[in-house]
Amino acid sequence: MLEVNNIHKTFNGNSVLKGIDFHIEKGEVVAILGPSGSGKTTFLRCLNLLERPELGTLRFCDGSLTLDFSHKISKSDELALRRRSSMVFQQYNLFPHRTALENVMEGMVVVQKKSKAEQRAVELLTKVGLKDKMQLYPSQLSGGQQQRVGIARALAVQPDIILLDEPTSALDPELVGEVLQTLKLLAQEGWTMIIVTHEMQFARDVADRVILMADGNVVEQNSAREFFENPQHERTKQFLLQAKIPVCVEYEI
Ligand code: ADP
Ligand code: MG
Repeated sequence: MLEVNNIHKTFNGNSVLKGIDFHIEKGEVVAILGPSGSGKTTFLRCLNLLERPELGTLRFCDGSLTLDFSHKISKSDELALRRRSSMVFQQYNLFPHRTALENVMEGMVVVQKKSKAEQRAVELLTKVGLKDKMQLYPSQLSGGQQQRVGIARALAVQPDIILLDEPTSALDPELVGEVLQTLKLLAQEGWTMIIVTHEMQFARDVADRVILMADGNVVEQNSAREFFENPQHERTKQFLLQAKIPVCVEYEI
């Protein structure tokens, strides 16, 4: 569905992404693992132009959108890309003075009639298990509930692809499971997702493909099973050892 090639990104002369090639199929779930500072967040942000790569290309394989980052990107292409992808942040990034329902409706009202937007927002909040919390403000919700609002908000724009940057790492351990369960449900529904995560058990169970990034490069990628059971590269073996696989977070799947 989406393919990027040779993505380069530098911050103040510091090369953070060193030529990333990546593709994802419709309905595929890809987990990105890697040590802190390896460029995972920057890569996700490049995919919806929260960061602008200096070099590389991005294209939707149906031919509907092609961007070449070595040239100036038009505003309309930038908006087109943003409309097709949606980000879920580690720190939820909800509007504090809006209710859960209003947060989910945020991105929709411009393009839809309000009553229709509200109906859809209610459906999404029900899907993530927050039917009875819709009128509450973020400060009245637990971290896990806030993140589920964040997920509902990401779905609200009906993106082609959802980008999740460590969606559970700000949560207390007992709240991780409810968010992972929600993500598992989305995977089963066929949403296309890229998830940066440290939840190895989740990556193993839910991702179709797993990628290890280190020092701005893709070190290894494989089916989840092969990646964990038969890692090819020394760097991957080292990473998995350090992560003390299996790291089991208890959650129902
Ligand atoms: P990860 O998500 O894998 O931990 P990041 O993509 O956040 O890695 O960061 C990769 C590198 O880029 C780090 O060295 C980080 O300090 C640097 N970096 C990220 N964002 C910026 C920024 N806005 N300005 C300068 N350096 C940055
Ligand atoms: Mg990060």
